[in-house]
Amino acid sequence: MSKTEFDVYCPECNILIAAQVVAEGNGGFRSNAINPFDEIDAEYQGEHYFVCLCGRCSQPFLIRQSLYGVPAEFETVTDEVILYPSEKRLPLDGAPSNIKSAHEQATRSFSASLFEPCVLMCRKCIEATCKTFGAKGRDLNARLQSLFDAGHIDSRLLNWAHEIRLIGNEAAHDPDIKVTKRDARDVLDLTESILIYVFSLTSRFEKFRARRSMASTKR
Ligand SMILES: [Zn+2]
Repeated sequence: MSKTEFDVYCPECNILIAAQVVAEGNGGFRSNAINPFDEIDAEYQGEHYFVCLCGRCSQPFLIRQSLYGVPAEFETVTDEVILYPSEKRLPLDGAPSNIKSAHEQATRSFSASLFEPCVLMCRKCIEATCKTFGAKGRDLNARLQSLFDAGHIDSRLLNWAHEIRLIGNEAAHDPDIKVTKRDARDVLDLTESILIYVFSLTSRFEKFRARRSMASTKR
């Protein structure tokens, strides 16, 4: 399907931008037809590739559209994935595997423009963080407070976590809610910041301190 621009998140500009299509090409089609004479009204699937440039910084993007249709009747885009640049992988050192996997699912949902699943998985990251530290309370609201009381997060991260909890709740319980790309991006970034602070930086600081104390005993 021909398009002249795509709304994408530019990692260089750090904002949503309209990337202009500068080249496109057909990635091939697969027909369900048994013989070539049936191909004219048989369902088909295919891919279309687009090269786009950010209008502000010229960052290139490679986008793949998956298509489904019937010749001369209809064609729909079933999936749209940004193949390049790939989402930056965060070194979530020290985070348990269930949190790493929830975070990866949130990132993949975002890349596939699935914004409700993205914020749901972000909320799950926060839930799992509470569980990892044995936070007490009958709901996530209370467990976050317990995480704060025990000193695992500070008041700013507590506020961020509450916002992630609320948007996650809305996405889970309100069938009419539509999470925007911008909100999903913010929720993903805030979730990552909390995970980096709670797990990666904590484990890095402990290693740093151990190294320092080793060095000082040698002196
Ligand atoms: Zn840009």
